[in-house]
Amino acid sequence: MFPFPELRKGQDAMLDDCRTAFAAGEHLLAHAPTGLGKTAAALTAAVEVAQERGLLVVALTSRQTQHAIFVETLKRIHAQKPLKIVDVISKQDMCPRDDLDESRYGVFQAVCTALVRNNDCSYHAGYSPQFLPQVFDEPLSAADLKTLCREEVQCPHRVALEAAQECDVLICDYNYLFTPWSDVVWDRIQRPLEEVLLIVDEAHNLPDRIRLSASPTLSLQRIREAQREAGQALRAQLSILERLVESLTEHKGEKEIDGGSVSRMLDAALKQKLTDLEGFVQLLERSAQRRLQRGKVARMGDVAEFLHHWRFLKKDSDLRLAHGGDKPWQRKLSLRLLDPASISAPVFRAVRGSVLMSGTLKPRSFYRDLLGLDTERSRKATYSSPFPPENRLLLCVDDVSTLYRNRGDPLYRKLAASLTTVAQATPGNVAAFFPSYALRDEVASRLGEHGKALLLEERGASPAKRTALLGRLQQRDALLLAVMGGIFGEGVDYPGNLLAAVAVVGIPVPPPSLEQKKLEEYFERKFGDGKGRLYAQTYPAVNRVLQAAGRCIRSETDRGVVLLYDNRLGHRPYRRFLPKEVRHCTSSAVPALVRSFNGPRTGNPPS
Ligand code: SF4
Repeated sequence: MFPFPELRKGQDAMLDDCRTAFAAGEHLLAHAPTGLGKTAAALTAAVEVAQERGLLVVALTSRQTQHAIFVETLKRIHAQKPLKIVDVISKQDMCPRDDLDESRYGVFQAVCTALVRNNDCSYHAGYSPQFLPQVFDEPLSAADLKTLCREEVQCPHRVALEAAQECDVLICDYNYLFTPWSDVVWDRIQRPLEEVLLIVDEAHNLPDRIRLSASPTLSLQRIREAQREAGQALRAQLSILERLVESLTEHKGEKEIDGGSVSRMLDAALKQKLTDLEGFVQLLERSAQRRLQRGKVARMGDVAEFLHHWRFLKKDSDLRLAHGGDKPWQRKLSLRLLDPASISAPVFRAVRGSVLMSGTLKPRSFYRDLLGLDTERSRKATYSSPFPPENRLLLCVDDVSTLYRNRGDPLYRKLAASLTTVAQATPGNVAAFFPSYALRDEVASRLGEHGKALLLEERGASPAKRTALLGRLQQRDALLLAVMGGIFGEGVDYPGNLLAAVAVVGIPVPPPSLEQKKLEEYFERKFGDGKGRLYAQTYPAVNRVLQAAGRCIRSETDRGVVLLYDNRLGHRPYRRFLPKEVRHCTSSAVPALVRSFNGPRTGNPPS
């Protein structure tokens, strides 16, 4: 069933490991570098075992762009063994109605819900089970399904969820299984988790994605905006919440608060207004819905969503904070999920077997612990890179440290001078990734004449701007300055040797904060053995370094230089993550080493 003529080096071992894990009901944590062909290996093994035992394969990705490789691989498998495949993305992105060209998801969702309830959407009303066989004729991407459904006047999202009830393979986002509200979505699919073989793509992203999905914030400003939208009775109830948040955020900085007592205080005060917390949230939701249906922003919905999360206390696995400040947007309450396992462990316990794969899934015990995988059921595997090591010059620049205490003009000048020489000595694009925009900007303002077009990643840039910036790289004469953990440092592939050199500046250790301290304390309590700091900051930071460094070589013919600017990477606890071929050098040696590596290619940008 393997969909390609030949297995690559290392791919055969991964295929065997995946088969064993799925057949034995285990969780395989696979550190599988770029280029290994991990999607084909995991899908082949999952489909083989699932077909034999009547199970469902679910492939989860963290980004829509990652769906394409799953669909393409499944098309090849389907050519040998016909399969029912469903690819589903967000309802908004699948909606074929041109009259709902609404970018705000909340507004879209409310309008769609109202249309369905009033039987006013012809696409939704037109659904017919007789249409499903057409969906399964051949594997369709979500975009293909949208096109087909537009012609047939069917709602693509509804069709996808109906089809998922009887499909062999479902491709969807992490959200379908790993958020506090996943039960609601999954219930619509009506497939027991006990019959699921799970593939988690780019699994290093999963812990953070889970924590983010359950960590909302509510500012005083947002409450006041909601008050302006509300009718008289609701406005009075929102005033109670406003006064409570004002009293909790009078201090400077942030402090931990008791979520249970805040809920009780709010509940008691609301009862004076003939309602309680539950009734208040429901009224906010109904009022927000009415505004959204009229195409208006509804901050009341944001307040309702926050309180909805706030009401559910998860013993000691989450943290409630009150943040003080001078401005209403700075004064806020926030809920921080500390333990992603509170959401992921029940899912992994229930599924029949799983493969979690990534090019940077190290150390595997960290991900196993963080996601709450059963040790007895978990296996680890490492596969080596199929790319020729001589195609990459990997340098660790040892006379630089970006520790906070070292920051200042001399460091910024040194980094800027070195990056300038790297850009001068490199034909083609150079990308440099920083731990923060602030450090990036300090260095950018001190660059010398480097002879390339300077491209700066914008904080919160729109997809159109990001696409334009990537398009600019096609001219192969740019110096891109971006941040680690951002879209350019992790989410973007750079095919065709688009980056001839990548510089990773520093280690993105999170700045000290109460949340960070509590996270460390929580992991230390839960895992002991000095793991608090490692799990809360060291391992996540090193993962971002490795992700950014991995942007350079994306295929076996790519060639390039990777520079790591931070001497801490040569020491514990970081050095174990660096490949053995790393060369240590000083910044003054960098230009000659880069020129020598590029050799005769200098002046001839790779194409
Ligand atoms: S029901 Fe489907 S087609 Fe209709 S508005 Fe909602 S998503 Fe769009």
